[in-house]
Amino acid sequence: MISAYESASRYFKEAATTMGLSANMQKLLLTPQRQVKVQVAIEMDNGEISTHIGFRTQHDKSRGPFKGGLRYHHEVDEDEVLALATLMTWKTAVVNIPYGGAKGGIQVNPASLSPGEMERLTRKFTDAIHDMIGPDKDIPAPDMGTNAQVMAWIANQYEKYAGFNPACVTGKPIDLHGSLGREEATGRGVGLVVEAFLQKISRPASSVTAAIQGFGNVGTHTATYLHQMGITITAISDAEGGIQDPHGINVPQLLEHYKQNKSLKNFMQAKPISNAELLTSDVDLLIPAALGHVLTGENAQHVRAKYIIEAANSPTDPAADEIFAKKDILVLPDILTNAGGVTVSYFEWVQNRQQFRWDIERVRHELQKVMLQSFHDVWELAHEKKCTLRDAAYLIGIGRVGKATILGGI
Ligand code: NAD
Repeated sequence: MISAYESASRYFKEAATTMGLSANMQKLLLTPQRQVKVQVAIEMDNGEISTHIGFRTQHDKSRGPFKGGLRYHHEVDEDEVLALATLMTWKTAVVNIPYGGAKGGIQVNPASLSPGEMERLTRKFTDAIHDMIGPDKDIPAPDMGTNAQVMAWIANQYEKYAGFNPACVTGKPIDLHGSLGREEATGRGVGLVVEAFLQKISRPASSVTAAIQGFGNVGTHTATYLHQMGITITAISDAEGGIQDPHGINVPQLLEHYKQNKSLKNFMQAKPISNAELLTSDVDLLIPAALGHVLTGENAQHVRAKYIIEAANSPTDPAADEIFAKKDILVLPDILTNAGGVTVSYFEWVQNRQQFRWDIERVRHELQKVMLQSFHDVWELAHEKKCTLRDAAYLIGIGRVGKATILGGI
C-alpha cells in the first residue's frame, strides 16, 4: 500500500508533467514550508496523564495565509497531515480564494474523551502552535473529529496571546463570530456540484440513486441536499456500519432517528449493510464522505456506481483511479467537490475582519457562485484537454499556485 503523501503527490506529478513543469519547480511546489510535531499532554478526569502527538503542516502560502482543517483521529500521522496539507493548497487555488494550504491534527480517539478532556487537549495544542497560527498566518478549521466547539476553544486560547482575534480560526459557533451556513457548507457544496454535473449530463435528479459513506458533518448535509433535489438515497453508513433501502431513505426522518439513538441501526424498514458492501452497491452516485483511501486497487474492480463524488478528502487511491478510468467511471475530485467548506470559511474570515455579518441568503448565494464557476472551469478544461476532471482540477490549481510563486519570486 502506498502512503497518503505518495498518493497525493502522484496526482500532482501527473498534472505537473502534462504542464511541462521542470523537476526543480515540481520539487519546489511539493516541498512543505514548515512541519511541526508537538507533545500534547493532559490530565484526564481520573487524574492519569495522557500524552498525544499533535501536528501542523504548512504546505504553501504563495496565494495567501495557510489554511486547513484540524483532525482528531487515532490514525493521524505526519504523512497523512502532509498529504492533506498539499490537497488544501490545490483546493484553495481551484476555487480561487486567497489562501495557501495547511493541515493539522492530534493522534487521539475523540470518542474516548470527556468534554473537559477534549477542551484541555485543544487548549494545550493551541499553546504549542500559537506562534504559527493567526488571521494573517495560518487559519485552522474543523475536520474529522473536531467541530465548532473545538474552534471556539482554539480562538479563546489564542486570544490569551494575541488579544481579540476571531479570524484566527474558522468554523466557530454562530454565537462566537462564526458564519451562518458554515456548518452545512461542505455538504451543500457537494450538492451544488452534483446538481451542476447532472445538468451537464442531462439526468433528472428523480432518476438518480446514491449511496453515501459517512454520516457526520459532510455526510449529513450532503444527504440533506441530495434528498431535497429528489435523488433517491439507497444506502448510508457511519463507522458502525450502514443501512440500505432500495425505495430510498427519508433523510429528515433518519436525522431525527440518529439524534435520538446515536446510531443508524433499526431505522424503519431499512436493512443493515456493511461499509464494504455500500462501496460496491448498485447506484449511480457513490459518495465517500468519511475516511480517505477507501477506494483501492482491491475493491475498485467491484465498484458498480457510474460516478464517484469525492466528498471526503483522498477517498480514491491512484490504483483505483486508474481502474475507474478504464471502466469509464467518472470521478468528481475532492479538490473541487468538497471545497464548499473552505469557501465559507473564507467568507467567515472576511466577515470577522469587516465586523459585518452576512445573512444566510448571501452566504449561500456567494457559495453557489464560487462552486458553479469552479465546476465550470474544471469541466471546460477537462473537455478542452480531453483529460479527467481530476487532472483538470490539478492543472488549474497547480497553474495558479505556480504563477503566484513565480510572480512573488523565490
Ligand atoms: P465527521 O467527523 O463529522 O464525520 C465522519 C463520519 O465518518 C462519521 O459519520 C463517522 O462515523 C464516519 N466514519 C468514521 N470512520 C469510518 C469508517 N471506518 N467507515 C465508515 N464511516 C466512518 O467528519 P466530516 O467533517 O464529515 O469529514 C468527513 C470527510 O470530509 C473527511 O475526509 C474530511 O477530511 C472531509 N472534509 C470535511 C470538511 C468539513 O468542512 N468538515 C471539508 C472538506 C472535506
